[in-house]
Amino acid sequence: MERTLVLNVKDLVGQSVEIFGWVATRRDHGKIIFIDLRDRSGIVQVVFTPSSKDYAIASELRSEWVLRIKGKVKIRPEKMVNADIDTGKVEVEPEEIEVLNKSETPPFPLDTSGEEIDEEIRLKYRYLDLRRERLQKNIKMRSEFVDQIRQFLFKKGFLEIETPVLSAPTPEGSRDFVVPSRFNPGRFFALPQSPQQYKQLLMVAGFEKYFQIAKCFRDEDLRADRGFEHTQVDLEMSFVEQKDIMALDEEMITVVVEGMGYKIKQKPFPVFTYQEVMEKFGADKFDLRTEEDRLNGILTYAWVRDFPFFEKDDEGRWTFTHNPFSHAKPEHVDWLLKGERVGDILTTQYDLVCNGLEVGGGSIRANKPEMLHAVFKIMGYSEKAIDKQFGHMLAAFKYGAPPHGGIAHGIERNLMVLLGEVYLREVQAFPQTSSGRTSVMSAPSELESKQLKELHLKIEK
Ligand code: ASP
Repeated sequence: MERTLVLNVKDLVGQSVEIFGWVATRRDHGKIIFIDLRDRSGIVQVVFTPSSKDYAIASELRSEWVLRIKGKVKIRPEKMVNADIDTGKVEVEPEEIEVLNKSETPPFPLDTSGEEIDEEIRLKYRYLDLRRERLQKNIKMRSEFVDQIRQFLFKKGFLEIETPVLSAPTPEGSRDFVVPSRFNPGRFFALPQSPQQYKQLLMVAGFEKYFQIAKCFRDEDLRADRGFEHTQVDLEMSFVEQKDIMALDEEMITVVVEGMGYKIKQKPFPVFTYQEVMEKFGADKFDLRTEEDRLNGILTYAWVRDFPFFEKDDEGRWTFTHNPFSHAKPEHVDWLLKGERVGDILTTQYDLVCNGLEVGGGSIRANKPEMLHAVFKIMGYSEKAIDKQFGHMLAAFKYGAPPHGGIAHGIERNLMVLLGEVYLREVQAFPQTSSGRTSVMSAPSELESKQLKELHLKIEK
């Protein structure tokens, strides 16, 4: 007999089915025992009466035991219909039951939304926490979002290309995670803060349309919407201007989120300059929703562009506001090359904001070595430092680098907006705790002295 998913049981009244899953709840009503059996599709009620062949087994069952049940699908008596679940009009009368595995009592309830439970405990037992309905839904939605993005980009002729994780530093404004090299004593890889440099090199390489569902690592202070690692939909195109990337991206987001059943408040997305939003909202992330939009789950996308290229850091030095690899606005390239009016230079950066969060950002890139060189010069890098850190990009740009640009969307931020979640951890399967440790496995952890030696590392305490 073929397995039937629990949700499909509702369409098979009168038939025999074989279902597999976990005991979500067990209710003992004196003589009758009700089991809600849960699989990835939902739950269905199984009813044991004293005349059931396996009544004795049923009375032993506990939450989260794993079962195989063969039985007949019956219509529930009118009074017993449960309108809250998809299979609420039917129930299964068991003919055969097999306990595939037992379970200890879970450390917390799985039939709630989970927000009431301490985060450390939830993440220690994340494999159980993930069994709750809300997280099953969130993780499925994430998969659907990525699937729709892929379908859209493949249709537009993009190639999905992976780039290295063990790499050299790419500045995105955070600290790097580093990995010691056993082969090269005293040397370290950096984990990418984004695939920025590689995707630009792929444009130099002539691929023209690249995308990747890319892991990014940033060692920064953790916040509700920020973790050490996140995933980006990262894309780059050649022979394009700012308006082309914004149009492609807007079409992608629209097709994907509308395809998932969401409503967008304003199309085309409104476009603001940085100056406008700072005057209007006092911030470059803002929420255009009305109270009614909030209640109806409406998405309010907006573009922001014309950002200053540079700002002063805490030590009074110029640093980039968004991305050092960006092209200045064409009318400001001259200032950039001469290092003049630095505070007035605007970048081709564009950010996409939705419901108060920044959900994407990108730019047209400098594709001539002198432009990129000028950026690092303004930031006070010595010739030696520029050559050491970015010599490979300057070299690549000498070999016919096409005009190019791109954008990246943080998958978690986008999902948070779609699902109305406030915490990044609710849309990642195995997130870090707010104290920066991994779920389930307790990393970071200490190394054995043998391993430290191999890596040429000494720990100072
Ligand atoms: N690399 C940028 C980021 O990670 C995105 C981009 O400019 O494409 O924010």
